[in-house]
Amino acid sequence: MTGESTAWMARSNQVFIGTYSRFPAVMVEGRGCVLRDVAGREYLDFLAGIAVCALGHCHPAVTRAICEQAGRLVHVSNLFHTVPQTELAELLVANSFADRVFFANSGAEANEAAIKLARKYSAAGRYEIISLAGSFHGRTLATVAATGQSKFHQGFEPLPAGFPHAPFGDLAALESMITPRTCAILCEPLQGESGVRPLVREYLVGIRELCDRYDLLLIFDEVQTGMGRTGTLFAYEQQGVVPDILTTAKALANGLPIGAMLTSEKIAAAFTPGSHASTFGGNPVAAAAAVATLRVLLADGFLAEVVAKGSYFAEQLNALAGRHPRYATGARGSGLLQALILTEAGISRGQEMVNRMFEQGVLINFAGNAVLRFVPPLVVSRAEIDACITALDRMLGGLSD
Ligand SMILES: *Cc1c(COP(=O)(O)O)cnc(C)c1O
Repeated sequence: MTGESTAWMARSNQVFIGTYSRFPAVMVEGRGCVLRDVAGREYLDFLAGIAVCALGHCHPAVTRAICEQAGRLVHVSNLFHTVPQTELAELLVANSFADRVFFANSGAEANEAAIKLARKYSAAGRYEIISLAGSFHGRTLATVAATGQSKFHQGFEPLPAGFPHAPFGDLAALESMITPRTCAILCEPLQGESGVRPLVREYLVGIRELCDRYDLLLIFDEVQTGMGRTGTLFAYEQQGVVPDILTTAKALANGLPIGAMLTSEKIAAAFTPGSHASTFGGNPVAAAAAVATLRVLLADGFLAEVVAKGSYFAEQLNALAGRHPRYATGARGSGLLQALILTEAGISRGQEMVNRMFEQGVLINFAGNAVLRFVPPLVVSRAEIDACITALDRMLGGLSD
């Protein structure tokens, strides 16, 4: 590591609240799937800013849209209409089940909006939103309460009331938790943070049926799975299960902060002027970046390539697991949200694996204390996938006992 890197890291460590354990790198530039740090070292990026930079770093169409919009109008608040925001909402409506959109600035905020809408839409006294064990919905107090992992709750109690968690994968248990106070079920079609765990189709269909039978809203958190990550614009499209409310964020503007909540005309009517708001939500620059991003995602053949590259990656990961049975059992995931499932021996060394990959110049992470997660830019090439596999092979082969 160069003096310049260490100097910046030392300065950083002097001024930040210690909420993050960061890789020892000071990133300064990115292009496609490659990042470069202040010392000039290059990294193959299979994290993409946590599934955010779907078109890769500094995609020319997105950069152009940002620059043009920033030269014209940066912010006016939602006291006015703006062109990019309307274009973006139209694109989202045209390409989903939804009729109506609300813009926020992050995934957690989009989920907050969904929680508030579900409560406002439902009859008085119906406020409980059941979510699933292992889920991740954000870091605000309500979304932390909805998150089904106790490690995110500790020290922040009392949490907002009305967020029971059902065991993962158990429809009967979920049904037994529905009460006259329940208004919605909230889940990710595939749990990202807790280890790339897909909800199988029958389970999702069963959840939809429970919502219909008990008159509950179904909220899909597609903050991570949305925007083409799994090979369709939204993951729900592949399952044939349509939610009542959907949230998305991460990749929506390829790196600028924005979140969206989508819903039907009927449910949207529960929000009237003053019900909910955001000063920055749908900011023109972020919206212009999102419009440019969506146009690329929706261009002919783009998502089909995500599916093809995802299958190729999964095949390679399965073959890799076959070569390293001590540490890995196989792959799971959807599209370009893929994971290498680790054995007990592998799990105990998961963070070490990530660090060793970093030393080789490949960026990945250890999700849910269970898997190595790969969320490369959707523009990743097969050669870059091969390079990641080669690095994994070398890393797993080099782990000493
Ligand atoms: C990342 C994530 C969130 C939180 O998004 P932020 O933008 O960090 O607030 C919520 N839900 C899911 C499924 C996520 O992956």
